[in-house]
This record gives sequence, C-alpha cells and structure tokens, in this order.
Amino acid sequence: TVAVVLFTADLRLHDHPPLHAALRAGDEVVPLFVRDPGVHAAGFDAPNRRAFLADCLTDLDERLRQRGGRLVIRSGPVAREVRAVAAECGATEVHMAADVTSYAHRREQRLREALDPDGVTLHVHDSVTTAVAPGAVTPAGSDTDHYSVFTPYFRRWSQVPQREPLPAPRTVRVPEAARGEGPPSSKDVDGTSPGLPEGGETAGRARCARWWGAGDLSRYEDRHDDLAGDATSRLSPYLHFGTLSPVEAVHRARAHGGPGAEAFIRQVCWRDFHRQVLASRPEAAAADYRSRNDRWRGEDDAAEDIAAWREGRTGYPVVDAGMRQLREEGWMHNRARLLTASFLTKTLYVDWRIGARHFLDLLVDGDVANNQLNWQWVAGTGTDTRPHRVLNPVVQGKRFDPRGTYVRRWVPELEGVEDRLVHEPWRLPRETRAGLGYPEPLIDLADGLARFKQARGRD
Ligand code: FAD
Repeated sequence: TVAVVLFTADLRLHDHPPLHAALRAGDEVVPLFVRDPGVHAAGFDAPNRRAFLADCLTDLDERLRQRGGRLVIRSGPVAREVRAVAAECGATEVHMAADVTSYAHRREQRLREALDPDGVTLHVHDSVTTAVAPGAVTPAGSDTDHYSVFTPYFRRWSQVPQREPLPAPRTVRVPEAARGEGPPSSKDVDGTSPGLPEGGETAGRARCARWWGAGDLSRYEDRHDDLAGDATSRLSPYLHFGTLSPVEAVHRARAHGGPGAEAFIRQVCWRDFHRQVLASRPEAAAADYRSRNDRWRGEDDAAEDIAAWREGRTGYPVVDAGMRQLREEGWMHNRARLLTASFLTKTLYVDWRIGARHFLDLLVDGDVANNQLNWQWVAGTGTDTRPHRVLNPVVQGKRFDPRGTYVRRWVPELEGVEDRLVHEPWRLPRETRAGLGYPEPLIDLADGLARFKQARGRD
C-alpha cells in the first residue's frame, strides 16, 4: 500500500505522528507539501515567512533524501493536489496534522470531500502542532468547551500525560510515480528582513541544542524579560513552522527540570492555550473575543500616529527599539511585543487589528492563534483578566532595559545618551535634543491614558 503524508505546519522528521503512522501503514510513502494559492490570497505568505518556509522545505527535502526519499512539492488548491497525487500513486490513505485556524478547518473539510469519493481515508493526527490537543482538557462544570483563563488551563494542561517523542524514520521509500517541483529558494524572496534566521529542522535543532547547551534554559526564569540580554530561546519560528515539535520541546524541558525549565514550559503552554481558544472560536482571529464597546481609532483618524508607530519614531525609545527590531529581524522580544502593542492600543487607542496586521506582515513566527490572541490579550478584548492595565513605556524601559542597552542597539540616535535619561530623552537640554535627530514624544502619556479611560469607561 501507499500512503500520502501531507506536511503543513509540521515541517520535520523527528516526532512526526502522521509520518510515523503512514510508514506503519504503507510500503511506500509520499511526503507531500502543497503550495496553496489560498494562503497567498489571504495575505499570510509575507516575505519573511515565505523565505523561512523555503528554507524549511529545502531542508526537509534534504533530510528525506538522506533517508532514500524526497519531498514532493505541488502548487495548486490543496484538496485538488492531494487527490491528484493520491490517484497518481495509488494511495489509499492520507495522514496529516490537526490544526486550528479557519483555513485549516476548511482545508480538512475540502480534503474529506475530495478524497471520500475515491475511497481514500483521511487521518488527522493530534499533538503534532500542539503539545496537548485543543479540547483535550475542558473546564469542569462549565458550559464552554475551552478555557478562557490561562492559569487554570495551565494547571490541567500540566497533568495531561505526554507521549514519548517519536524518532525520525531511518528510511523513507517514495513511489516513482510521485511527481512534483523542486523546493523554492529563500534567495529568490524579495523584501525580507536583513537579520532573518535560517529556517528548517536542521537549523531549529541546532538552535535548540545551542540554547539548551549554553545553560540558557536554567537561567530562563530570571532572564526572559531582560530586553538587552536577549536570553529567550528564539525557537518561535521553528515552533510555528513545526520544524521543532512542541511535544519534544516540553519533553526535553521536563527532563531537564528546575525553575528555568518550568518557566519555559509555561510559555509553551501559552501557545497551546491560544490554540484551544482559536479552535473553539475561530472568529477571534478578527473579531473581539470579549467586546468592550471600544471605538478604536483606525487608519482614517490616526494615520500619522500609526505610521510613526510602524516606523519606530514615536519618541518613546523602548517602543521605537521594539518596532525597529521587528523590521530588521522579523522577530521581536516578547516584552517589547507587549509594550509596543499596549502603546498602540491603549496609549494611541488604535484598533488592535491594525497592529496585529503589521506584526503578521513582518514576524517570521507570525501565527494567527498566537498573534491575534496576544494582541487581544494586550488590547483587553481577549483573555487578560486585567483588561484595563496599561503598560507605561518609560517604566517598562527602566525596568526591563535599565542601562538602555536594548534601546541603543536599535535606536542609534540615542547612542551617546547617558543611562539615566535614555528612556526619557525629552528631559535632555533642548540643544542636546536638537542634535540627536530623534523625534519628540508623539503623545503625552497622561493624555493617552485619560483618553483610554474615558473612551473605554468601565464595563
Ligand atoms: P521563549 O520565551 O523562548 O518561549 C518559548 C516558546 O513559547 C516560544 O517560542 C513560543 O512558541 C511560546 N511562547 C512564548 N510566549 C508566548 C506567548 N505569550 N503566547 C504564546 N506562545 C508563547 N508568538 C508567536 O509564536 N507568533 C506570533 O505571531 C506572536 N505574536 C505576538 C504578538 C504580541 C502582541 C505578543 C504580546 C506576543 C506574541 N507572541 C507571538 C508571543 C511571544 O512574544 C513569542 O512567542 C516569543 O517572543 C517568541 O520568542 P522565543 O521563541 O524566544 O520565546
């Protein structure tokens, strides 16, 4: 028998339940990736992620070739292509990972509709793109099918027995009849960030080994908010594209043990938390999870503020540093994501969707569940239990970048400013300020806060 494995956001060979099941079921396997124009039409293949994906596909193909196989890449509507490949190769089964977005739900439905009439069975596997499947734990005694508060979810999630990560297969035999294109090259993608990391399972595992090996996991609890220290794992793009398995990441962290590993596991759980919210409420990708009757400002009435925020020239150094890091690296430190998003939504009172869109245009880890629901969390329309909290960029800067190292790294105009004033350059003498070439603050923080309080009121 022949089985097709449809790779989606799981571009790896280690710990890959669909591949494992297909190899058990069939003599030959077709490892398939489909470049679906639907993803392009939805605007999700921004250059940074397109380039990273190209690396992932190249690497997956190479790893399969080392095992006697190859990756079959096709372009076209996913259901049509899978059906065609199955027919060409005489496959009777298709294996793939479960996923949570509306696109993924539609894809699964279309695949079933396309494959059923041909007698081809679709097997959808859990715990491939998440550590714990959405819906595996639900709040007891409640009428909702998902958790809307993180801490109780984390408690239950931590008790779910985890399977052992699966090894990468030794050999993969691909039928002759399976035809496809060669992998795309990241070099052909224009408009990428200069500091983009390399994609692929090989690069992801190397990053993991380096970070683990350097002892950063042990120090993670103390250092994950240190902006200048840059001490988080930077595994998010690898988890997003599934070149690293979340089950394996949690498994390894548990085996390591200690407070750093615990704190890291908690962050990985946030990923599953957002996924179980989105699985139940796919519309939360675009609509308020909890409506607060906000009358956000949009492009029409806040165009200049939005442009200054996007370009990192708000006059608030730590906000500008974060926004410039995003442009340069296609990635931003979590603490900077929190405070730049809070600044846009609660200080400038701009619609969270505008910020979320900009992040998705640039983030190499840009992910519908994590991005949209983190934005909603910050905007106070999501799952934050303190939806009115506002992060003050000066307080945040002084606390998480006390010497201004992160700010100076990304805002060279402030290179010569002493530590004491690097987060408040407007307190420098007028002549010194004039020589910096750095903008004055876009808005007075007290005015922003007053507008937010008045606009939102209390609910
Ligand atoms: P680490 O601190 O090393 O954490 C390990 C892993 O845990 C991460 O790789 C990530 O997969 C997961 N994780 C960590 N923090 C969170 C979190 N708050 N929510 C969900 N998962 C988390 N993360 C994305 O992967 N894609 C996004 O598009 C995204 N958009 C965000 C937008 C905003 C406004 C905010 C506040 C956060 C967003 N995050 C997003 C979450 C978080 O900022 C990143 O996952 C993290 O900064 C990635 O860096 P890291 O891999 O070094 O994380």
